[in-house]
Amino acid sequence: MSSPLVQRLRPFTETIFAEMSALASRTGAINLGQGFPDTDGPAAMLDIARMSIATGVNQYPPGPGIPALRQAISASRAADHGQQFDPDTDVLVTTGATEAIAAAMLAFVEPGDEVIALEPFYDSYQACIAMAQGVLRPVRLRQAEPGGRFALDPAELAAAVGPRTKLLLINSPHNPTGTVLEAAELQAIATLAIERDLIVVTDEVYEHLTYSGAVHTPLGTLPGMAERTVTISSAGKSFNVTGWKIGWACGPAPLVAAVRAAKQFLTYVSGAPFQPAVAHALMHEQQWVANLRSELESRRDLLCAGLSRAGFVVTRPQGTYFVVADFRPLLAPGEQLDGTAFCWSLPDRCGVVAVPQQVFYADQSAGAHLIRFAFCKQVAVIDAAVANLSRPVEGSQA
Ligand SMILES: *Cc1c(COP(=O)(O)O)cnc(C)c1O
Repeated sequence: MSSPLVQRLRPFTETIFAEMSALASRTGAINLGQGFPDTDGPAAMLDIARMSIATGVNQYPPGPGIPALRQAISASRAADHGQQFDPDTDVLVTTGATEAIAAAMLAFVEPGDEVIALEPFYDSYQACIAMAQGVLRPVRLRQAEPGGRFALDPAELAAAVGPRTKLLLINSPHNPTGTVLEAAELQAIATLAIERDLIVVTDEVYEHLTYSGAVHTPLGTLPGMAERTVTISSAGKSFNVTGWKIGWACGPAPLVAAVRAAKQFLTYVSGAPFQPAVAHALMHEQQWVANLRSELESRRDLLCAGLSRAGFVVTRPQGTYFVVADFRPLLAPGEQLDGTAFCWSLPDRCGVVAVPQQVFYADQSAGAHLIRFAFCKQVAVIDAAVANLSRPVEGSQA
C-alpha cells in the first residue's frame, strides 16, 4: 500500500536525530547530535513535581494553566524585561514550546497565507506551517565568511514580505546557528512588522542561555511590538527538563485567546504535576539558571576549541546548546561536499556524532558544508569528545 500520509506532511517523515543516535550507539561514538541535557534540573523543582503526584495533583488542570504558574510567568517577564502580562488573559501554558508554535500556526494562518521564518530553522516550523496549510517563505541567515556570525539581512527580510504574508516566525537565540539577534536586526523586524501590520511569533526558548555578554532582547519589548507579538518560552530549556513539555505563550489578550482556541483541541491542558514545580522554578531558581548559563558557556568554549584543533572552521555561538562547524578543511581532495555523508563518516573520523545542518534548510544544498554539535552535555562527555577529536585519524574507513 502506498503511504496514506497526506501530501503536505510527506516531506517531514524522516528524522535524522534517530538515525544519528542509532549510529552513536552502534559505533560507540560520543553523541553530540540531539540537543537535550544529560543532567537534571533544580532539586527543589523536581521534589515539587514528585510531591504533586503523591498528593493527587493528577487530574486536568485549568486550560490556560494553573493560576500560580501563570502568575509566576507574568512576574518573571516583568522582573526580567519590564513586560506587563495579565496572568488571566495574556498568558497560556502549553505542552512545550512545540505546542505553542503549532497552536499559533493553526490559530493565525489561513490556507495559502505566507509565514516568514529564519532559515536554517528548528525542525518543527516547516511541518507546523504545512499542517496549517500555510506557505513557508524562508529568509536565510548568512555568514560573511566561514566561521562568521550568521546574520539577518534586513533587505532580504523586507523583500520576502508580500501581499499574502501573515506572520513572522522569529527565533532568537537561534537554533541551529547560535545567533542572538542584535539591536539593528530586531529593529528591522519590528519596523517591517509594524509597517505591514504583521503578527510576530517569537520562539525564545533559549532566552536565558546566552554567552560572552550577548544580550537577548525580546522582540515584544520594542516600541509598537507588544500588541502584535506572541512570545514563546520553554521550561524544558530553562530548567533542564525537556521531557516535561511545559512551555508558555505570552502576548496581548486577543492573540493569546486565539492560540488558546487552537491549544484546547490539541491537548486541552498540559502536565498538571509539573506546573507547580515550574512555578517554583520561575520564582526561586534564578541562581540555578545563572549557573547553568555559565556552565554551558565553558562547555561551549571547550568544544569550540576542540573542534578548531581538529580542523573544523567553527562559528562561536552567542547562545543556545549548539555550535555549527564548517567541515570543508577536513575533506580529502575530490571528496563530495555533503553534510549527511560527512556525518555518517564522523564516528570513524573523529569518534563523535553530529547532525548535518542541511536538514534545517528548505533548500538543503544551502547548508551542505555545515554540521551541528550539541554542547549541553556533562563536562566529562565534552572532554571525551574533545579527546576523540584530537586523536590523529588514520584514514576514514567509512
Ligand atoms: C527545543 C526547542 C523547542 C521545543 O521546546 P519544547 O518546550 O521542548 O517543546 C522549540 N524551539 C526551539 C528553537 C527549540 O530548540
